[in-house]
Amino acid sequence: MIPLSLYVHLPWCVSRCPYCDFNAHAAPTFDESRYVECLVREFGQAAGEARDRTIESVFFGGGTPSRFSPTAIRRVLDAIRTEFDCSSSLEVTLEANPQSADREHFAGYREAGVDRLSIGVQSFDDHCLRRIGRAHGREDACVAIDFARQAGFSRFNLDLMYGLPNQQVNQARADLERALEFEPEHLSWYQLTLEPGTPFAVKPPPLPDGDHLWEMYQEGAGILERAGYAQYEVSAWCRDGAVCRHNVNYWEYGDYLGVGAGAHGKLTDDSGEVFRTVQVPGPDDWMAAAEAEGAEIERQHRDAGSRIFEFMLGALRLKAGVAWSLFEARTGQPRKVLSNVLAKARAYSLVDESPQGLCASERGWRYLNDLCELFLPDSV
Ligand code: SF4
Repeated sequence: MIPLSLYVHLPWCVSRCPYCDFNAHAAPTFDESRYVECLVREFGQAAGEARDRTIESVFFGGGTPSRFSPTAIRRVLDAIRTEFDCSSSLEVTLEANPQSADREHFAGYREAGVDRLSIGVQSFDDHCLRRIGRAHGREDACVAIDFARQAGFSRFNLDLMYGLPNQQVNQARADLERALEFEPEHLSWYQLTLEPGTPFAVKPPPLPDGDHLWEMYQEGAGILERAGYAQYEVSAWCRDGAVCRHNVNYWEYGDYLGVGAGAHGKLTDDSGEVFRTVQVPGPDDWMAAAEAEGAEIERQHRDAGSRIFEFMLGALRLKAGVAWSLFEARTGQPRKVLSNVLAKARAYSLVDESPQGLCASERGWRYLNDLCELFLPDSV
């Protein structure tokens, strides 16, 4: 059975960061109870899709989920437990922003059943934070992490970025070293990229060049390894095997229900056909649709070529790479369909292979986008 998880989108932020391409909406206030009751209605529909399958993880993403009260999060989690069969080891993650961190809220989330907080620190340098338009400062981030600890979260992730405007290698190193002082079990450490349609893409800030980025990455990777963190995905590091199970399910082409404004889902039916779902993006429109006929606006079938590309796009991000057994189970295709593409990947020394599967080589890791592009539907 393909694992199933549930993504819940909570779309509002205090302000909009200029690099962000998420479905996030800046608003000073919002109608929390109306949105929550709409989520509950939508869970009723989504439960029909889940049928007798068990939910393995729930992820509250945004936007800024920590703007929601513990009462709201408890109501949502209670509804999830009522509507779905949930695993006894259910992982429940909630994204929190330092700017909206609140001691009582964090404790309330923990009591409601959230067992993992993901805190969007991004940097501990006030100048860097200002340059990327974040609404919080270094001190807010430190306080938020302390609140998470005091609330009893033994599992927390820190989101940290490098390659920020005008950032020097020593500043990126200092950010990581400061993060490690808090001993998070998990670090998402990723490079700032210019996403189409964002203010940063329209008017790019002065970013470090490719050589400096590579130097930052190599130095940072060394620091993390020496501190006992293992990299299991391009941007994800953890201690003691504490991977984010929800995200691993994405990267392994598992199924997930997406509920909330603009949420995406991916489902495999009994005959192995794969569908992607999308919900109405605007929060007001989404609530109106949820209160009427339902908030899903799109359901796209994935043909064999798309399944192969999507699978490889996720699995090649994993340090462990692609297991052939998983490839065949998730795409419904035999591994031999990749023969031609793999010949090219080998010729460019982009993959390391074993009888059980393959992973990106050291060179493939550096040129991961190029490696993934080899698997585009028209190329396979
Ligand atoms: S806080 Fe996060 S979701 Fe909100 S605008 Fe900034 S990057 Fe986007």
